Amino acid sequence: MARDAGPEHVVIVGAGIVGLSTAWYLQRYGVRVTVVDRGVVAAGSSWGNAGWLTPALTLPLAEPAILRSGLKMILDPASALYIPPRLDLGVLRFLLGFGWHCTPRQWARAMAVFSHLGGSGMEAYAELSEADTAGPGVSEPTRAATPFLAAFRTETDRAVLAREFEMISRSGGSVDFRLLDAAQLRAMEPSLSPQVRCGVAIEHQRFINPPRFLAALADSVRARGGQIIEALQVTDVRAGARQVKIIGSSGRALTAGRVVLATGAWLGDLARDFGVRVRVQAGRGYSFSVQPEQLPSRPIYFPAQRVACTPLGDRLRIAGTMEFRDANHRLEPARIEAIVAAVAPLYTGIEWEERAEEWVGARPCTADGLPLVGQTNAERVFVAGGHGMWGVALGPLTGKMLAAQIVGDEPVPELAAQFNPLRRGF
Ligand SMILES: Cc1cc2nc3c(=O)[nH]c(=O)nc-3n(C[C@H](O)[C@H](O)[C@H](O)COP(=O)(O)OP(=O)(O)OC[C@H]3O[C@@H](n4cnc5c(N)ncnc54)[C@H](O)[C@@H]3O)c2cc1C
Repeated sequence: MARDAGPEHVVIVGAGIVGLSTAWYLQRYGVRVTVVDRGVVAAGSSWGNAGWLTPALTLPLAEPAILRSGLKMILDPASALYIPPRLDLGVLRFLLGFGWHCTPRQWARAMAVFSHLGGSGMEAYAELSEADTAGPGVSEPTRAATPFLAAFRTETDRAVLAREFEMISRSGGSVDFRLLDAAQLRAMEPSLSPQVRCGVAIEHQRFINPPRFLAALADSVRARGGQIIEALQVTDVRAGARQVKIIGSSGRALTAGRVVLATGAWLGDLARDFGVRVRVQAGRGYSFSVQPEQLPSRPIYFPAQRVACTPLGDRLRIAGTMEFRDANHRLEPARIEAIVAAVAPLYTGIEWEERAEEWVGARPCTADGLPLVGQTNAERVFVAGGHGMWGVALGPLTGKMLAAQIVGDEPVPELAAQFNPLRRGF
């Protein structure tokens, strides 16, 4: 009879923030890990994102305001939310579910979960930075946004964010913020143009440099004895009673005691066969970088334009757009131009034509806004994904919760309830 490979060797498919964090936390329990990616480390959404670790803004996407602005916003190629007019049935099903969750009641429900997790997400980042018995921590630091800024053209726009903070307070969370006028804003960030008339300063938020952080996280996993195999596409997973077989496109196969599918916007491809019915829809976002005359020293958010800006090294990364379409679709230059058109009037001293690092990535979105984390209908197969707009902020916490579940360390209530990957839904 074949020997039970047990949880002592786990293969993780997907070397994004979620997969690598799961590997790192499993190592804490002495588990041997192999991480497999069809591309390289951070080949997916974990590379070109804004890198915000911002509990104050970690809110569900399906919000009542999106439904109110309706079709106009959705079909306008210049809008921050874009859905191509020709849709396949899967996207349509997702949109129906998304619309259903855009009610104040559903939004408040998802928001309560996020506001409960926000602080724990930060604690997990702090843990990652520390060496433990498994080996070194992650060498790339997180940075404090001192403070984080949200900037607006009008007070009416600002009131929308202030209302969301009120809702967070009412559901038991808290946001430490203060209102700023134009002069205060420009004193803090002189690159903001006179069109920016008011703002909000938010304390206790952090950010990372995503490419550097992911590279350092992968280095840490390797230094703790883990193997990372790049350029291996997993095409099939076969779960047996005693072990699980992971089949690659090249015919190469791996065997392990457990497998974790952490394949981002492609989660459904492998997870569907294990009873995961909730659709993970690609919410594609774009980013690029510019070199301002005066580089902002902290992230700046333009909520009305839905554009996120983050200083990374000596450049400013500009990120935005939510485009619901096939994850593998090519980069659409029109979407980048739409971001430039929205944000250029809000800055001075930036040569927009000299932008570089144009990128598109697929956020793994679920209609109810909640991730899918935990055991599937096969005892040895787990999934971790579907974090939508907030996989960077919540990736390490997800890895921590899932690793605890896999080794049977302690029950994790969120995994049993809100994040159950076998839940019914759209
Ligand atoms: C423009 C933009 C800005 C964002 N800003 C933020 C932010 O500020 N803060 C925040 O918290 N989140 C942000 N996000 C969201 C965040 O990037 C994602 O939620 C997160 O990166 C998802 O991580 P993941 O590990 O689940 O998926 P991914 O990073 O996409 O990783 C999945 C990996 O699986 C691999 N893979 C897929 N299928 C297979 C297969 N069959 N075999 C082998 N490998 C496979 C892929 O190559 C990929 O490397 C942003 C996203 C975008 C697009």
